[in-house]
Amino acid sequence: MREAVKPRRESRVLSWWEISEADRRLEGADPRETITWAAETYGEGLALSASFGGGEGMALLDMISKITNKVTVLTIDTGFIFKETAEFREEVMRRYKLPVEVLRPALSVEEQVARYGEQMRTCTPDLCCQVRKIEPLRRALERYDAWMTGIRRVQTLQRAETRVVAWEERYGAAKIAPLAHWTDEQVWDYVREHDVPVNPLLHKGYKSIGCEPQTRPVHDDEDPRSGRWSGLEKTECGIHFAGGEARRAVS
Ligand code: SF4
Repeated sequence: MREAVKPRRESRVLSWWEISEADRRLEGADPRETITWAAETYGEGLALSASFGGGEGMALLDMISKITNKVTVLTIDTGFIFKETAEFREEVMRRYKLPVEVLRPALSVEEQVARYGEQMRTCTPDLCCQVRKIEPLRRALERYDAWMTGIRRVQTLQRAETRVVAWEERYGAAKIAPLAHWTDEQVWDYVREHDVPVNPLLHKGYKSIGCEPQTRPVHDDEDPRSGRWSGLEKTECGIHFAGGEARRAVS
């Protein structure tokens, strides 16, 4: 795994008009067309945020690796991820050979417990996600002009309005979602056709994988994300809510 912490690279910063024009043009496009546009536009100023948990992120990583070797993979190690996910990440990045930055929170788990208390994860998980996920990503994105993500509209109500290309003010970077319009079937067809590796926990009843304390396997008739923060209103860590802090889902 090629781990790298890059200084900020020169690349193009698009105007609001250019971003909305790209979004309009790439709506519904093959994800590879969107990735090619992003790579040509942002060069080394482009990153991919990957959790190594779901099939869509892996499909996106596979597509990117066939188009460019300049995109840096940003992945957050909260200190609570599954051992299987960490091992899978190491194995996969030996195969894909893209530069990787493993992002870590400013506070260790012990420091966080000392500051906020043992129960923070269950009583105030929005704050925990803010410290352990959102802040590390925000700091890393200060060095990039654009980032790609595997999120899709059909995943949750909160993701239903996802744009293919949008400006994210709170990260100071463009956010690109090449798979925004893809269905579950399209993701899994791609994974099968291209022999894309997936997190081994997906074969053990998990359908959406995050931090170990707040992820459980789900039954076939359950919503794939119902195993995340199970028993709480929360369904999102807050990374993908444009213009807002981490907040509980409203259905
Ligand atoms: S998913 Fe849970 S353990 Fe992980 S950062 Fe969020 S609240 Fe903390």
